[in-house]
Amino acid sequence: MTTSTAESLIEYSLVIDGQRVPAESGATYDSVDPFTGKAWARVPDGTGADIDRAVAAARAALQGEWGRLTATARGKLLHRVGELIERDAEYLAELEVRDGGKLLREMVGQMRALPEYFYYFAGLADKQQGEVIPTDKTNYLVYTRNEPVGVVGAITPWNSPLLLLTWKLAAGLAAGCTFVIKPSDHTPTSTLAFAELFGEAGFPPGTVNVVTGWGPATGAALAAHPGVDRIAFTGSTATGITVGRSAMEHLTRVSLELGGKSAQVVFGDADLEAAANGVIAGVFAATGQTCLAGSRLLVHESVADELVEKIVSRAKTIKLGDPKDAATEMGPVSNEPQYRKVLSHFDSARAEGATIACGGEPAADLGGFFVKPTVLTGVSPQMRAVAEEIFGPVLVVLTFGDEDEAIAAANSTEFGLAASVWTKDVHRAHRVAAQLRAGTVWINCYRVVAPQVPFGGTGHSGIGRENGIHAIRDFTETKAVWVELSGATRDPFTLG
Ligand code: NAD
Repeated sequence: MTTSTAESLIEYSLVIDGQRVPAESGATYDSVDPFTGKAWARVPDGTGADIDRAVAAARAALQGEWGRLTATARGKLLHRVGELIERDAEYLAELEVRDGGKLLREMVGQMRALPEYFYYFAGLADKQQGEVIPTDKTNYLVYTRNEPVGVVGAITPWNSPLLLLTWKLAAGLAAGCTFVIKPSDHTPTSTLAFAELFGEAGFPPGTVNVVTGWGPATGAALAAHPGVDRIAFTGSTATGITVGRSAMEHLTRVSLELGGKSAQVVFGDADLEAAANGVIAGVFAATGQTCLAGSRLLVHESVADELVEKIVSRAKTIKLGDPKDAATEMGPVSNEPQYRKVLSHFDSARAEGATIACGGEPAADLGGFFVKPTVLTGVSPQMRAVAEEIFGPVLVVLTFGDEDEAIAAANSTEFGLAASVWTKDVHRAHRVAAQLRAGTVWINCYRVVAPQVPFGGTGHSGIGRENGIHAIRDFTETKAVWVELSGATRDPFTLG
């Protein structure tokens, strides 16, 4: 799959039409390990020309062998690739850690969960039945067909490259689509290795293609490509808006999974140990680099001091270090631009008068891109750290006096990805869950996902849902077929 160069960088290739190929220009760039700060792999710097080749291959597969498979056969292939991912889970996890610096134990867990998505959608592939529709007209049989939307351009971020890709691929392939994938420039290698498993599983060449490239140009070429029928994007809100605009130039269908500033709402009757643990999981796991980070704590004033004390004392003991070490709880920030962004939030929080209850600085002794788990109190809604997604291990704490105030505060954001409610009152739990503007609400838990459950956001957190029984529909076009049954002719100048 890979070869070592003289400088011991591992070399990767694009995957187009079932072949490992270099970028047409021959250009490459280096992927940097955020723990060591050193380059470790060399990947092709693909351009629009490579996107053209990949889209052509995806189109040919759609019109060729892949397009002729039955839905049942597609399901069998999805099942087979799930087994190969199971076999290679540890290896894929290592690639994600080298590129992105996330904890090995978290990424091994994530890779072992991926096959479940493929098995789930494998089972659903041949259950996408059309309908026979009774109409207000006599002499017609009308039925619908759910046809694959076509070539999908999948653009993914650096924080969980293969999980977020799987959320698109498993449903899209089950629907019969083909893919051109553009992973984040910061985390390209796991996707390149992953794509090769589809060839091994027996997917026809061209079904799953990957083009890597440095900077925004490669993704922009994919989003603007007239040969792409559907864009499935996960990333920041700003880029999502650009991608959406560009796709609309060709009326390409789009799903956008974007950023968040999710609220964890803790009522006075909550189990505070469980809530503290949930808040830690929500904002410090994965170094806070998850779209669903519960980065705003809204806590009832009667328990605020006690809860903050629990969170701060745990935050101070979080073990930072080598992401490959099983004892490490928080790895580095994933790349230098993101590291600089987190530091800039520390500066602006100080300048705006927030109180730094813990953290607020780099973990200088560790070098690399490490920052300390940070809790900001004494904040107000206008402060930058409260309003913007930081995508780092930074929690802001606000208090509330009653339920209405809590709901209003939770909803006072342009984002709407996730939220949680911590309370022992079952009435209040459901009442509040219904009023929170978010695609996911967790009650007395946080950061749980599953193939069976839809995930996505409202407002600036995006458009569309991934996973769940309806996700395949999002990769299909519905065709209505009318069949005249009487054999009679009718007035050609009136609408039937
Ligand atoms: P990003 O928006 O910078 O990049 C995402 C992808 O888009 C990358 O592959 C990038 O190369 C590509 N890209 C950049 N500019 C482009 C352009 N002009 N046209 C087309 N593609 C372009 O995001 P990121 O920094 O990689 O990831 C972090 C963001 O992703 C955060 O905002 C986070 O909340 C969000 N995210 C959302 C979810 C979700 O499911 N809602 C999940 C994970 C991450």
